[in-house]
Amino acid sequence: MNEAGRRAIEMKPGNKKNLYIYGLFKKFSMVRRLVLVCLFTALFLRGFAWSEHPMLARPALAGMGLWDEIGPAEVKHLKTFLLETENSLEPFLARHEHWARTNLPHYQPGPDDLAFRAGGDTTDIVVRFFQAIRINPDMRMPLYLHLLPGEPAGNRSHANTLVTTADRNAESLHRPTHIRLREGEKIRPLNILVTANDEPDYGFDLGLFADNQTDYGARYGFGKQPFGNPNLAYSSQAPFHMAFYHEAGIVYRFAPELNRTFLDYRVNLFRELSVFAFNNDQHYWGWRFLGWSMHYAGDITMPYHSKPLPGYSTTRMLWINLKAMLGFPADVQDAIQLVSNRHTAMEAYQQQELRQAYLAKNFRHPFFMALAIPEFPVPFSKNFIRTYASYGAARQSAHTDQVLADHLPGYMVSDPSIEISEMPQLNNLAMLVHADQGGESAESLNSMIAERLSAYSMTIRALLISVVQETGMTVKDNHPAARG
Ligand SMILES: [Zn+2]
Repeated sequence: MNEAGRRAIEMKPGNKKNLYIYGLFKKFSMVRRLVLVCLFTALFLRGFAWSEHPMLARPALAGMGLWDEIGPAEVKHLKTFLLETENSLEPFLARHEHWARTNLPHYQPGPDDLAFRAGGDTTDIVVRFFQAIRINPDMRMPLYLHLLPGEPAGNRSHANTLVTTADRNAESLHRPTHIRLREGEKIRPLNILVTANDEPDYGFDLGLFADNQTDYGARYGFGKQPFGNPNLAYSSQAPFHMAFYHEAGIVYRFAPELNRTFLDYRVNLFRELSVFAFNNDQHYWGWRFLGWSMHYAGDITMPYHSKPLPGYSTTRMLWINLKAMLGFPADVQDAIQLVSNRHTAMEAYQQQELRQAYLAKNFRHPFFMALAIPEFPVPFSKNFIRTYASYGAARQSAHTDQVLADHLPGYMVSDPSIEISEMPQLNNLAMLVHADQGGESAESLNSMIAERLSAYSMTIRALLISVVQETGMTVKDNHPAARG
């Protein structure tokens, strides 16, 4: 073992056991890469975190003091925005690429031949922009608003089929309502921001890796998909919506792929684009880009997006891997299935419970209370995502996993032989908990999730405050924690 490796291990808790297991791993070094690739390939089946971000973003942001002071924004097609700003957008994106290469650890540089150029063919300017920011070039960018449960559509027409070619809401039982907007009309900024908070889950990050068998993935420069199954469409978005910054050093030594995530790239790119848009008097796109940035920042506050195996210590994780290497993969397979089922169950429960609270106008629900009262603020900075926003989620991950195991129906979350997404009960999980598990279980689940929602709220507020300050919008920060 080299010195750097030994030091990395010795600095972490549980070091003696880890050193022992590390020694065993070294003995099997010929197969270790193969096995770890197997583990992390199987690990992530889905790339979603919180379900229906607008339901969270609105109560998190609505109580801030700036909304009365900021006027409505004029709705504009992306193409119009690009044609009006292309001359300053080209140098801006070049500067940001340089910044990312210099400042983001494990960044995969954008290819020079995809860099955005002003003055090109106007008919393909939107696709050229998508390629420069390296998102799925098949995205559509309709003008629409996302309505919250119970919110009336008025006389506007629904636009449910228009958002994207890969909209997962199309299959969802709890499909949200989208209404169409027209270019030129004036809309309240909070509504634009809340709507945009969901968009990155509609297909932005599908198929971006070299082994995803898409023509754009082959050109984007992100390399091979670091974990998850490259042949499952939604698995390919996971490395953009998850990140693992708080593992023991030994985990990264064995699985350096876990470093290769792009969540912080997305948060920073879209935040900067938002600042760029505001500085160019393009307020509609300023809010929409900011909503995209918030989506990724919000994802990292979800424990299953900040830990590869919540509830598993480093020692246990390495031990079950070692057993798999020796020909006994059952423990690894069980761990992956259980974590995947609990992850899915947590999203389903959160969405159904919150949707029901909206419909019942139960604004005293613990989720609403937590979103309105964020945890103590940390200002946005270069290290905000890696050091702060992700930290509480990683720290709380074992507790989260335990609460789900204790308070959701055992046949759904504690039986590794089932795949929860195939169970019809998943669509009524919150109702089942209230009916069968008793009020105490719902209370425990709600207070565990509420703690995370308060971190989520702080995280997206920090982004908003940073953009407001950087662009010189005058805003009172009426942060309750800061006041109290
Ligand atoms: Zn996401």
